[in-house]
Amino acid sequence: MLTDTIACGIASIDQVLFAQTGPCPYCGGIAAPYDTKEKIYATLHTPEGEKKITVFVRRYHCRDCGKLLYADEPFYPDTRIGSAVVDLAIALSLVNSFSHTSEIINAMGIDIDRGSVRKYALSDLPVPKINFFYGFPLPFSLFSLIGRPLGLKSGAAAGAEVLAASGFPSAYRAPPDGAGTSCSRQKQRKEQKQKEKREPQKPADQRKQE
Ligand SMILES: [Zn+2]
Repeated sequence: MLTDTIACGIASIDQVLFAQTGPCPYCGGIAAPYDTKEKIYATLHTPEGEKKITVFVRRYHCRDCGKLLYADEPFYPDTRIGSAVVDLAIALSLVNSFSHTSEIINAMGIDIDRGSVRKYALSDLPVPKINFFYGFPLPFSLFSLIGRPLGLKSGAAAGAEVLAASGFPSAYRAPPDGAGTSCSRQKQRKEQKQKEKREPQKPADQRKQE
């Protein structure tokens, strides 16, 4: 039930259009619509087989400097899958191994491999806010996709809603001090584990010193 609900949440984003943009970030010029690209948000494993969930992202052409610009989209910079799936991988990898994280996500019917989980977990992407759903920790971005009324809003209005719930991932820039990033949390976790491993050996070390 939980896994179906999560897969349905991801599926609700299928074919949504992302068209929101401001002035050119390079020169402040006027961005004119150029074309629309279809991008894979997630791959779901359904009883009927593999299903690609795609979104449409509008591209703009700056009239002043000529640069090609993407609308705000539900992807973190330099990533290939939707931000809610990345958030899920980062959230689960804080309490599970990378391979177990990929197994849990695959069991939800969402395609991801261990290598991708590892890449996101050790990146400077943010640790997402968590919501508990039937006792299961879900990132807020994914939680907000669940129960999104299908067909209530379509086109760019749906895109704007998804972006707000996802925290505008394409505009994310890692903080210079690394605070709140997944890699810094993974480092803390590793240090904590090593400390726990060292502690039982303490009495032996003390004996040596005496
Ligand atoms: Zn420009």
